[in-house]
Amino acid sequence: MQTIAEGVIRVSLAPRAALNAYLIDERVLVDTGMPHQRRRVSRALRDLDIERIVLTHAHVDHAGTVAAISAEKGAEVLCGAADLADLAAGVSPPIKLGRPMIPVQRALVRYRGLRASPLHDGDEVGGGFVAVKTRGHSPGHHSLWREHDGVLIAGDALIGVSNRLRTGVFRPLAALRPDDASVTRSIQRLAELRPKVIAFGHGPPLVQDAAHQLSALAKMIG
Ligand SMILES: [Zn+2]
Repeated sequence: MQTIAEGVIRVSLAPRAALNAYLIDERVLVDTGMPHQRRRVSRALRDLDIERIVLTHAHVDHAGTVAAISAEKGAEVLCGAADLADLAAGVSPPIKLGRPMIPVQRALVRYRGLRASPLHDGDEVGGGFVAVKTRGHSPGHHSLWREHDGVLIAGDALIGVSNRLRTGVFRPLAALRPDDASVTRSIQRLAELRPKVIAFGHGPPLVQDAAHQLSALAKMIG
């Protein structure tokens, strides 16, 4: 658990920040980890009254424990409308595999799904955050943005990397950009927000020079 901005805690679900969930004001959970992490997520939340779970998208590494945790906490679940059918079925929206592989992926990457409510662009989700539609990595992907202190919870619209080879903010890998043009548009939209802090589904938070690095990325791919 790491506080990254006022009222925003990163819940670490893998070493080196390889997978993250976030807590807003100790009552809104953003993303829920992989299915096998149910106990870990549950422990991290044990004393908290979680009222709402917001999924940035319905991939297994973000929605993997949502059915269990929402049942345990009695929390409502919100996710972008275009991901709701996959979420109900408990399958990840397709990534960019050759067409013959898509049924294989959908058979292998399953989790306990549920019927959630649609999250829309501009919806307030708590703690001063509003949803920003950032489709591309998945059709219903949303990020969360807090204007007053410039905090962006990007989900997988952006990927954070910090290792001895490179550091900063990147696009998802090509295979994870099934709708590449939308990924680019989403990144350009996020860059216009000029965030001060960027929190990622994958990677350590970017807390310095975030706006500058993100606009450099937007320019490079635009
Ligand atoms: Zn994803």
